[in-house]
Amino acid sequence: MTSPGARADGPSRRISLVITDEHGEVLRETRAAIFLDRDGTLIKDVGYISRPDDVVLMPGAAGALRSAHNRQRPVVIVTNQSGIARGKFAEADYLAVRKRIAELLAESAAYIDAEYVCPHHPDFTGPCDCRKPGVLLYETAIREHGLDGARSAFIGDRWRDIAPAAHFGGRGIMVPSESTPADEIARARAEMEVAETLQAAFDAALAP
Ligand SMILES: [Mg+2]
Ligand SMILES: [Zn+2]
Repeated sequence: MTSPGARADGPSRRISLVITDEHGEVLRETRAAIFLDRDGTLIKDVGYISRPDDVVLMPGAAGALRSAHNRQRPVVIVTNQSGIARGKFAEADYLAVRKRIAELLAESAAYIDAEYVCPHHPDFTGPCDCRKPGVLLYETAIREHGLDGARSAFIGDRWRDIAPAAHFGGRGIMVPSESTPADEIARARAEMEVAETLQAAFDAALAP
């Protein structure tokens, strides 16, 4: 039995869904999340970034993450890193960049709850189900963290970042970057949502 709003107390009642069995025992509680692209959305996209020293947070990134956490909303990074498949950098480089991002965010009291990566590219490693706009990484995150895709927001600077929102019944919000093609922005305006800044996208996602 599904009983939305069964958790009637506490600040997280707006974002939690409690699934109970016939005796009212809690089986699982799901949470709305924010799925976030990394390059060009959370950090500046310098193209196949592989050196920690090249990491620059997007303006307002830490504040946007804090605003989500103030609302008990987990933030999950889903990122395509085809540079690994292309041999442009190693998995160790990706992990070093990831660590640097965490350090920079921590300086502003912000953090990422979880991160999922596709290291493939069809031209180099064959087809895979995890490369965005594929939904495998989102499905994995939803299962591992008890998330509710239909009440989640999908934020990024490319159409492939927000397209998965349609699959899960969630909300897709594009924040265009310098590398967003004009036709993708037009499609996002027509079919989903567009925000001018990361904070504006988070504000929209967090609106009651
Ligand atoms: Mg991007
Ligand atoms: Zn993949």
